[in-house]
Amino acid sequence: MVQEWIEARTLIHKLNQNGYQTYIVGGAVRDLFLGRKIADVDIVTTATSKEVSELFEKTVQMNNQHQTVLVRVGQELFEVTTLRGARFEEDLMRRDLTINSLAMDEQGVLIDVVNGKQDLSLKRLRSFDAKTRMIEDPLRMLRVARFMSELGFTIDSDLLTTITDNHSDIKKVAVERVVKEWIKILKGTYRNQAFFLLLETGLYKSIPRLSLNPKALEQLLTLKSLADQSEIICWTAFCLCMDYKNEEPLKQLCLSNDLLRAVKVRLSFNQKREKHSWTSIDLYYSSIKVAQDVEKLRFLRGLPRQDECELNSIWQSLPIHSRAELAITGKDLLQEFKREQGPWLKDRLLLAEKLVVERKCLNEKFEIIDALKEV
Ligand code: ATP
Ligand code: MG
Repeated sequence: MVQEWIEARTLIHKLNQNGYQTYIVGGAVRDLFLGRKIADVDIVTTATSKEVSELFEKTVQMNNQHQTVLVRVGQELFEVTTLRGARFEEDLMRRDLTINSLAMDEQGVLIDVVNGKQDLSLKRLRSFDAKTRMIEDPLRMLRVARFMSELGFTIDSDLLTTITDNHSDIKKVAVERVVKEWIKILKGTYRNQAFFLLLETGLYKSIPRLSLNPKALEQLLTLKSLADQSEIICWTAFCLCMDYKNEEPLKQLCLSNDLLRAVKVRLSFNQKREKHSWTSIDLYYSSIKVAQDVEKLRFLRGLPRQDECELNSIWQSLPIHSRAELAITGKDLLQEFKREQGPWLKDRLLLAEKLVVERKCLNEKFEIIDALKEV
């Protein structure tokens, strides 16, 4: 973190020396005052993205609506955005919340045009000219819930009324943006406070494609903290609270296929686990990682979980852990059964795995073939 600040100052210094006014803005300044871990350092400058790219060796132009360039200094990456509006103060006033409108110059001097520092000490989420801010970009309403979940702050009454009156505007916001904030809401330490805000303002009804309802929010409220959990765990827990049987409803949220697949397996093994504890064959098919996640999900939902050591030892003692370890191959079966290739081959291999995993026969080529001939 210290290194990040040193590199940030190097970057600002260079831009300043070249005649561009440059500041650290937003989350990093806020988190510095709160003593929180900084997620990333955002920088605002009067230089255009072309000018920034010319000054630094390692830069990447970002593909967003603002003029943002990723700049690498040492090991650190910084988002450098060109000032919006004619004056720096104007840029700060147009940010979502006053606590995110703080800026700092190269010398560490604070620039606070909307009394953000006071709101930080009062632990209050406030927007400068709330209605204009929220209507300008309705995602900000969800960001309010996000910061409530992360920081546990209270909300200013003007902002609360604005969200209550205008929440339906969020329906137009792109789902990718919504999803990023939603996951942060789920992981926040004060998640329950944020859920109450969603319920109190009615915002939950308008969040696009999440299909939230009071019953699901109530279920989410009962979950233990997701702060240290992976996105896979968070989304699977979400599905369970929404009473989804599979990952189908998540498909409209523009999540990655890898994530969807991971949620799908966890949901499916979780269903099995609800009926009985882990059998060798389920564990073999799921793999230990998935089984551990299923148990973690049970823990998060307050359900009895299987002891982790016990689960590991069942896994360790499995005769094989993947098809590659099976002592026969499809080729062996073709030779032995003297049949044309076809669906029977896949079935036989599956059966061979099952026989070995369930210790009905040893993992040896001719033992397996004999056992297959007997069934
Ligand atoms: P984090 O610590 O999670 O990175 P952050 O406050 O830095 O939180 P970012 O999403 O990284 O949030 O945005 C950086 C800054 O840009 C914010 O602090 C805020 O000032 C501004 N910002 C981001 N999104 C919006 C928005 N939708 N409307 C207005 N200002 C925004
Ligand atoms: Mg940030």
